[in-house]
Amino acid sequence: MKQTKKLKFNIPDYALFALEKMKEKGFEAYIVGGCTRDLFMSKEPSDWDIATNARPEQTQAVFKFQNIKTFYENDFGTVGVVFPENNVVEITTYRSESTYSDYRHPDKVVWSRHIEEDLKRRDFTINAIAISPLGKEEFEIIDLFFGLKDIKNKVIRTVGKPEERFSEDFLRMMRAVRFENTLGKGWKIEENTEKAIIKYSYLLEKSSKERIRDELIKIIMSENAAQGIETLRKTGLLSHIMPELEKGFGVKQNKHHVYDCYRHNLECLNYAAKKGLDSHVRMAALLHDIGKPTTKKGTGENATFYNHEMVGAKMAEKMLNRLKFPKKDIDKIVNLVRYHLFYYNVDEVGESSVRRLVRKAGIENMEDLLQLRMADRIGSGCPKAEPYKLRHLKYMIEKVSQDPISVKMLKINGNDIMQILKTEPGPKIGQLLDILLEEVLKNPKNNTKKHLTDKLMELSKLKDKDLLKLTQKAKKEIDKIETKQDQMTKERYWVT
Ligand code: ATP
Ligand code: MG
Repeated sequence: MKQTKKLKFNIPDYALFALEKMKEKGFEAYIVGGCTRDLFMSKEPSDWDIATNARPEQTQAVFKFQNIKTFYENDFGTVGVVFPENNVVEITTYRSESTYSDYRHPDKVVWSRHIEEDLKRRDFTINAIAISPLGKEEFEIIDLFFGLKDIKNKVIRTVGKPEERFSEDFLRMMRAVRFENTLGKGWKIEENTEKAIIKYSYLLEKSSKERIRDELIKIIMSENAAQGIETLRKTGLLSHIMPELEKGFGVKQNKHHVYDCYRHNLECLNYAAKKGLDSHVRMAALLHDIGKPTTKKGTGENATFYNHEMVGAKMAEKMLNRLKFPKKDIDKIVNLVRYHLFYYNVDEVGESSVRRLVRKAGIENMEDLLQLRMADRIGSGCPKAEPYKLRHLKYMIEKVSQDPISVKMLKINGNDIMQILKTEPGPKIGQLLDILLEEVLKNPKNNTKKHLTDKLMELSKLKDKDLLKLTQKAKKEIDKIETKQDQMTKERYWVT
């Protein structure tokens, strides 16, 4: 259905310029895909995609003429056009659907002459609308599959028969779930589309793990992440992505929990997503208890799950490797799962235990670990008040990670002093070091070999009695500074 409509769309000048230049040279050019959908939903598109009947070389020629940089480094006919401030418009030659005999990539890309054919190969009606500006606030709209109606009703429906369209590319099933949960409130997968997903869910295994991973990340990063995972489970897709997670479904916990293992993991993810926490914490929240089903001993309210964090960390590592997550992300997530159970109680757990936790889990991961712990508590369904304890632990972490105040901080040591003053070892060396330490604590700029040597020469002229007095005064000062520093750290975390 072709129509012309007056519409107020906010399209940046560089995208309008790209459309205009293509048309000036006699080519067709339409804004398509996710950005058209976003415009009709009054959302700001994240990137600008244009479809054209020009071949990639012809598109490049149009912009070469304008002295605008382009790149073309793929097999899909997409030319990137680079405008100032790194604004990129992607211009892709019309394509028609081709066969996917490996279910991963189209066998070959077939160019097409008609926008209609290009729209027909797209996954969902809402992603298959093309628009092109005609004049001021006037647009040509091509909406062959009633995508506008589906946007209005918030329906995700395949272009054409769902079973056929999923058979061409099974990843589309997961994309349907992704769109349902990331487009906003009230979106639903259309009934026949959903039935086909349920029927073919087991065939998701044929899709490449990298593509599955990318869709999974989009679901996890959305505000409705937990709902998205639940839709994956209900449609049967989850057991072909993360069977380890699904295993916890219906596995009851004990008196500390309201939910089963699976639901608890989801509730934690829900907290992390609503709080806008980063991807590592979200993923760790979702996976933190996957070791529970296999380590469960006993039943009822006294069931135990000894070592589930270690077993879970191993399982998470295997799963994330299988899904081709980058190594550095795997390391971070696995580490959080491994240490999520740390025990902490004010006055009960001492500095050495905190120091051990920091050493094992890494100081750079402490903030994430504390956030995961918060998610774990809230996600249990019967959260005990813990903010004070966590603040106190933060204080302890900072305390044990600060450089201790000690003569080791000085740019001069006992041996240097013996050499400079040509003396033997003895209590005097320690006294001198204490006085120098006070000198440096009062003003860190004093911590140079030269300044300390000069000071040392001065001190060496003093009588033993006076030196001792100075040492005692210095020790008191050092003590005061230590107490003050600790007080400041405490105040920062509102703990006493
Ligand atoms: P987002 O805003 O999250 O990027 P999007 O709709 O732009 O969503 P993309 O994955 O960027 O999604 O794809 C761009 C467009 O390409 C889609 O709108 C759709 O028209 C088409 N498309 C992408 N993947 C497929 C697929 N697997 N099968 C058919 N068409 C697809
Ligand atoms: Mg996109």
